[in-house]
Amino acid sequence: MSETFSIGLGNDNPEVRKRSEEDYVSFWEDQAKKLTWFEPWQKTLDWNPPFAKWFEGGKINASYNALDIHQNTKPEKPAIIWEAESGETRVLTYKDLWIEVQKTANALKSLGVEKGDRVTIYLPMVPELPISMLACARIGATHTVVFSGFSSSSLRGRIEDSKSKLVITSDGGYRRGKIVKLKEVVDEAIEGFDFVKNVIVLERTKEPIPLNPKDKLWKDLIDVASPECEAEILDSLHPLFILYTSGTTGKPKGVLHGTGGYLTHLHSTYGWAFDIKDSDVFFCTADIGWVTGHSYVVYGPLLHGATEIIYEGAPDYPDASRMWDIIQKHKATIFYTTPTALRMFMKFGDDIPNSFDLSTIRLLGTVGEPINPEVWKWYYRVIGKEKCPIIDTWWQTETGGMMISALPGIETIPLKPGSGTRHVPGVSISVVDEEGKEVSVNTKGYLIIKNPWPGMLLTLWGDDEKYKNAYWSKFENSYYSGDYARKDEDGYFWLLGRADDVLKVAGHRIGTAELESCIVSHEDVAESAVCGIPDEVKGEVIIAFAVLKENVEKDSTLLEKEIFEKIRNDIGPIATPQQIYFVSKLPKTRSGKIMRRLLKAIANNDTIGDVSTLEDGAAVTEVQRAFQELQKSIKEKNN
Ligand code: ATP
Ligand code: MG
Repeated sequence: MSETFSIGLGNDNPEVRKRSEEDYVSFWEDQAKKLTWFEPWQKTLDWNPPFAKWFEGGKINASYNALDIHQNTKPEKPAIIWEAESGETRVLTYKDLWIEVQKTANALKSLGVEKGDRVTIYLPMVPELPISMLACARIGATHTVVFSGFSSSSLRGRIEDSKSKLVITSDGGYRRGKIVKLKEVVDEAIEGFDFVKNVIVLERTKEPIPLNPKDKLWKDLIDVASPECEAEILDSLHPLFILYTSGTTGKPKGVLHGTGGYLTHLHSTYGWAFDIKDSDVFFCTADIGWVTGHSYVVYGPLLHGATEIIYEGAPDYPDASRMWDIIQKHKATIFYTTPTALRMFMKFGDDIPNSFDLSTIRLLGTVGEPINPEVWKWYYRVIGKEKCPIIDTWWQTETGGMMISALPGIETIPLKPGSGTRHVPGVSISVVDEEGKEVSVNTKGYLIIKNPWPGMLLTLWGDDEKYKNAYWSKFENSYYSGDYARKDEDGYFWLLGRADDVLKVAGHRIGTAELESCIVSHEDVAESAVCGIPDEVKGEVIIAFAVLKENVEKDSTLLEKEIFEKIRNDIGPIATPQQIYFVSKLPKTRSGKIMRRLLKAIANNDTIGDVSTLEDGAAVTEVQRAFQELQKSIKEKNN
C-alpha cells in the first residue's frame, strides 16, 4: 500500500467523468462547444485509423479564441507578466497582446506569408515569442518553434524539414547573465536555403549585428504595422503547428497538430487540472520551445483569459532562489514545473525556499518525467506547506495535452506520491502485454491509448508512413506511447519509464523509474539514472549513476553499500546494480530529461549517436571519466 494524501479543494463534479464514460465522442463535442467557432462542424469525429478528424467542417481560429473573445470582458486584465533575467518586468494586458498580435500578423502578410505557409520561430523567452505564434495562427500560417538553445545544425534540420518561408529570431537572448547570439545561428542555419524568403530580427540585446538582404528588423516592420487584422476563418483540421520532439529516445520527430481538436483538449484539461479562477496568477516554468510551453504557457492559459508569468532566463540565476523570488514578487497561485528542476532545488536544501513568502501558492504541478516519491514529498512539504495538491501530469508532444492527471477542477481524490492518478475524462488508456492484452492489476506493461482523442497529433510532418510505424504498428488500432506503466487497485497509473530503457535482469523487467526513485530516496542522493548493459553471464546487468546533494562528504564505498542495502530492502536483490558511478551531472536533453541511451552507449563503448538535443556536452565527458576511472580501479584491484 502506498501512502496517500487527501487534499480537498471542494470541487467534486462526478457528472463530467460519468458523461465521458457514456459516450466519449459526444462528451468531447460538448467540450468543443465551450470554444468560439465561426461555423459549427458537420461531423464530431471521423475515425479512419490511424487518422482522426475532429470537428470536421467546423471553422475556428486559435488566435481569435485566445484574444478576441476576451476583448469585451477583460481587455485590461494582465495576460502576461514577463520577467527578464535582469529582473525587469513588462506587463501585457489582453488588449495589448491583441494589438501586438494583429500588427505582427499584418507584418507577416506584408512579407508574403500566406495561409498554410510554415514559419520557424527561434526566439528566447520574450513576449514576442507568443506574439509571433499567435500572429501565425491568426493568418493560418503553421508555426514551428525551435527552442533557442539549439545549435545551427539542429535548427537547420528543422527549417529544412518544415520548408519554412520565414524565420523569426532576435539578435540574441540572455542566459545566466550572458548574451547568446541567436541571429548568427540563424545565418548559418539558412545558408543556401532559397525557400527562406525573409528573417525578422527582434532587437532584444541591441548588440550590433550584421544584417543581410533577407533581414527585416522587428521595429521597422512590426512596430509600424496596422493594429487591425481580422482572424482568418480556418478549418478545424488546419495545421496549427509542427513541433519537433525533444529527442530523448532518438532523432526528433516533427509532430503536427491541428486546430479545433487541439484547442478543445487544451481548454478542457487546463480548466480541469488547474481549477483556474479569474484571480489566479499561473506560473509554468517550461520553455515555449517545448510542448508544455505551447499547450500550457501559450494556448491553455490564454483560452481561459488567465494571467500568467513568463520568465526569460535560467531557473537558478543569479542563484537557486530565483523561482521562489518570482513567486513571492508576482504572487503566483499555481506553479507548474519539472521533476528535474525540483531535484535541483531540493539539492540546495530547504532554507532557501523557506526564506520566501510562498503563501499565495494553492496548487502545484509537475510534468516531463516520472517524479520520484521522495521529490514529490519534498515539493508537497516545503513548497506547498502541506496544503496544496500536486498534480503529476503525464502526456507527450504527440498527445497535445494532458492524458493522465489529478484534476482538482472537477474531482477531489486522494493523491499518491509518484502516481499521476487517473486518466482524464474522455480518453481511454490501458496497460497491456506484448500481445496487446490488458495486464492484471499492479503488473507492468506498455501504456497504450485505445480511442482517438481531440489533442491527438494529425501525423508526423510529411511522413504518414513513419507516423503509422512509430505509433500504430505495435498494437492494432491503439496508440503506442513508448512508456512503461502499471495500474494499481484504485485505477491509478504509475509511469515506470520508457519502454526502450527497461531493464531486463534474469527474466525480470524492472522499470528505470522505480529503481532511480529508490536510489534518490537515500538522504544523500539528489539525482540518479540507471541503465542495463549486456553481460556475458547474466545477459544484462544494471549500472547506476548518482549525483549527490550539496556538501555531502561521505566515502563513496560506504555510500554504495548503503544504497545497495536500500535497493535490496525496497525492491529486492535482483535490482541491485553491479556498480554505482558517482558523477557531478547527468547527460540530459535540453528539456531536462535524462538521456539513458547515452549512458548505455558510454558503458558499452558504442557510438553515441544523435546528440543534437543534448544539453551539456560536459556531462558526457563527466560520465565517461567516472566510468573509465572506476574500470581502472577495478582492474587494479583484480591484479
Ligand atoms: P522523444 O519522443 O523525441 O524521445 P520525449 O518523449 O522526451 O522525446 P516529450 O513529448 O516532451 O518528448 O515527452 C513525453 C515523455 O515524457 C513521455 O512519453 C514520458 O516518457 C515522459 N513524461 C512526461 N510526463 C511524465 C509524467 N508526469 N510522468 C512520467 N513520465 C512523463
Ligand atoms: Mg516521446
